[in-house]
Amino acid sequence: MRQQGAWIRWEKAVERKVTWAELWKAEPQRLKFLIQAVYDVLPSPSNLHIWGKVESLACPLCFKRGTLEHILSCCSKALGEGRYRWRHDQVLKAITEAIAAGVEWAKSSRPSKQAITFNRAGEQPRPAAKTSAGLLATARDWQLLVDLEQQLKFPNHIVTTTLRPDVVLFSEASRQVVLLELTVPWEDRLEEAFERKLAKYEGLVSECRQAGWRAWCLPIEVGCRGFAARSLSRAFSLLGIDGVRRRRAIHNTTEVAEKASRWLWLKRGDRWGAK
Ligand SMILES: [Zn+2]
Repeated sequence: MRQQGAWIRWEKAVERKVTWAELWKAEPQRLKFLIQAVYDVLPSPSNLHIWGKVESLACPLCFKRGTLEHILSCCSKALGEGRYRWRHDQVLKAITEAIAAGVEWAKSSRPSKQAITFNRAGEQPRPAAKTSAGLLATARDWQLLVDLEQQLKFPNHIVTTTLRPDVVLFSEASRQVVLLELTVPWEDRLEEAFERKLAKYEGLVSECRQAGWRAWCLPIEVGCRGFAARSLSRAFSLLGIDGVRRRRAIHNTTEVAEKASRWLWLKRGDRWGAK
């Protein structure tokens, strides 16, 4: 029960809706994987052993205890072979496509004008209303660097560092820089990953600020079974990717994570490389 009810504890995950239309279109094998993965009832070596089907509960790659969690996110051999990196990059691609589209959208739309408020003499100026258009709408010269095909190099005119966040988004004109760092963890560890990545880039963010830039670090997590953390939704909102565009972006991202994990599951005992 503890194992199968674990999903109830995913407090940081965004509720995931699968519509009837999607259910209708989805391949039965895909749905079966999603449901069995969420309830942790896939025939992993560890479950097969518990069910009395096999003697050994070893992971086919490293011979440690082969739970689903181990296979999808904790196996050091799988990590070393680049299996998790491959999944991470698939998910990163989906996220950056949404951000790139957001940048283009912001460039083509009219810049957000700050409303001018008049105050009577002696009256306290009211704080400016928060613009809901998001960061992307505040500049038109955003440059997007992604650690995918080419190794990302942090723009050294901002700060010199060897750290490589997954995404750097910056605007010279407005002196703003946003770092995004993606983790694709087991769903029970969404929050832990967020805190870890926030701490990792804390120093870099404050150096950027000292250099006169407005800087943000946005750790984002997408659980390996396709459940996005709220941090992803918040990051899109901060950038100004909202409403239907945000929903679509999250949907694409979570689907990519789930499909990539299913592939890792199917290939769990096979040689890696033949993708
Ligand atoms: Zn292993």
